[in-house]
Amino acid sequence: MTESRTAIVTGAARGIGAAVAERLLADGLRVALVDSDADLLESTSKRLSGGGRLCAVVADVRDPDAVDQAVAQTAQELGAPTVLVNNAGYTRDNLLHKMSLDDWDSVMDVHLRAAFMMTRAVQTHMVDAGSGRIVNISSIAALGNRGQVNYSAAKAGVQGFTRTLAIELGRFGVNANAIAPGFIETAMTRATAERMRMTFDDMKAHAEQQIPLGRVGQPTDIADVASFLIGPDSSYVSGQVLYVSGGPTV
Ligand code: NAP
Repeated sequence: MTESRTAIVTGAARGIGAAVAERLLADGLRVALVDSDADLLESTSKRLSGGGRLCAVVADVRDPDAVDQAVAQTAQELGAPTVLVNNAGYTRDNLLHKMSLDDWDSVMDVHLRAAFMMTRAVQTHMVDAGSGRIVNISSIAALGNRGQVNYSAAKAGVQGFTRTLAIELGRFGVNANAIAPGFIETAMTRATAERMRMTFDDMKAHAEQQIPLGRVGQPTDIADVASFLIGPDSSYVSGQVLYVSGGPTV
């Protein structure tokens, strides 16, 4: 495990992905920030700066060509990627009877198909290097959540995907784990509050009553765990799902 490793973090322009990218840079890795939002990606990259150890790649991870191009660009600019954080995603919530096929497909595409394509492209570099770390972002919604039949199914799928990666790639020195966050304060949860016609403060206060630790999570709470799963202290941890949600049941 050297600190010259190269990581790819998808959905890194804001929220959890930006916090993970910032933490990995602080840990000494080189980091490719991949995101579909070019303007936000530029401002986040400028903020993180990275001292030459960062590159920004504009890509929609649902697009197979863009995925291959993003991995090739990373390898060229920062060296072969042997760390991957599949984080990009969004919600398209609705009750089952109102959910469109597009909303189902779109959520499957961004959380499952994109993670599959990205992992398939990066594993070549990991296998060549004889080592790698994959962290997939699942969610407590994998356990079921009203109005999220698509997202819940996708995030449960991410867990099966992760366990299978651990089984297939373990012999090549690759560890694969998932983090299942609870309520994290990001643009995604702010948008959920808006959709539910609640103020964000009201939604947070309601959530805090259910969370044993009495607070909602911050992106850095997830970045800390990603850092552990990518760092030297977790070398014998693979195929696990770590719930990071302020308590066991939320
Ligand atoms: P966020 O603030 O909305 O950030 C997600 C980032 O991913 C955005 O910059 C977004 O860019 C990017 N993205 C979306 N679709 C993309 C695509 N097709 N290609 C490339 N980039 C794309 O969300 P977050 O809360 O940080 O969530 C990050 C991950 O954590 C997601 O997988 C989410 O499901 C998961 N998660 C979040 C929570 C939570 O409470 N926040 C809880 C559990 C799990 P655009 O602006 O272009 O959309």
